[in-house]
Amino acid sequence: MLKSPGQIVRSVFDDLITTFFPGDCRACGGPLLKAGTSPLCNECVRELREQSATLCVRCGEALDVDGLHYERQFGAEALLCSPCRMTPPEFERAAAWGLYEDGMRELIHLLKYEGVEGAAKPLGQLLARVMVSLAEGGMPRDLAVIAVPLFPAKQRLRGYNQSARIVDEVSEELRRAGGWTLRAAHGALRRIRDTESQFGLTASGRRRNLRGAFVVADPAAVAGREVLLVDDIYTTGATARECARVLRQAGAAKVWVATVARAQREMVARWGAEAEASAMHWEQ
Ligand SMILES: [Zn+2]
Ligand SMILES: [Zn+2]
Repeated sequence: MLKSPGQIVRSVFDDLITTFFPGDCRACGGPLLKAGTSPLCNECVRELREQSATLCVRCGEALDVDGLHYERQFGAEALLCSPCRMTPPEFERAAAWGLYEDGMRELIHLLKYEGVEGAAKPLGQLLARVMVSLAEGGMPRDLAVIAVPLFPAKQRLRGYNQSARIVDEVSEELRRAGGWTLRAAHGALRRIRDTESQFGLTASGRRRNLRGAFVVADPAAVAGREVLLVDDIYTTGATARECARVLRQAGAAKVWVATVARAQREMVARWGAEAEASAMHWEQ
């Protein structure tokens, strides 16, 4: 398409702007005070919100109940979602910091799809808070940590595993805080099947799709140990459930799951409809 002179001037001007001000906030477009440290401005980082709904005590699914009232009446065990009641997962607890939306979604997209490794830093800081809350709920601070693996071809294409980058940052963060012994054991778990996009599949479809996708390549790294599985986003839990299953089978004493973001059920349903019209690969 031919550009009018006005458009040419504008695009040259845009180039100048981006050359001289390379650090615009990737969420709001506003200026960054310090370019290169985080892709979001302070304002947008401040606006990232921790989940506030009443959550399933096991997997973190939002429950449509008034938590306090419910707990008082039926006890904490009552705060379980129906999938956790019907088919309890083999992990102890899965926790996520915020909802997968707005600035959070932007940060994860930058890290996963745009090669902006700097996005791992704020995500690692948020994951540290998730780990502290898991530790308050019984998770030991001495753990083998495993980032959910990508299929090797996908990792070669991306250049890194985004969850392993988040683990690097969280390890740094908690080393400074003290009191934690985290041993990265990413190689212990391997993804041996490319499960394609999980997007648009139902929860049971996802579970079927993931059967046999992961193997424990180094059982000695997990046998008898408590393992923390780290992923960027928890969608239906099919990945966490399948990884926990094979890790437990290989002798892991307990498996805990920490993710930065959580997609709640109504979001997943909404994406299912969007997926029909788009070929985007969301999962992994
Ligand atoms: Zn911003
Ligand atoms: Zn649950």
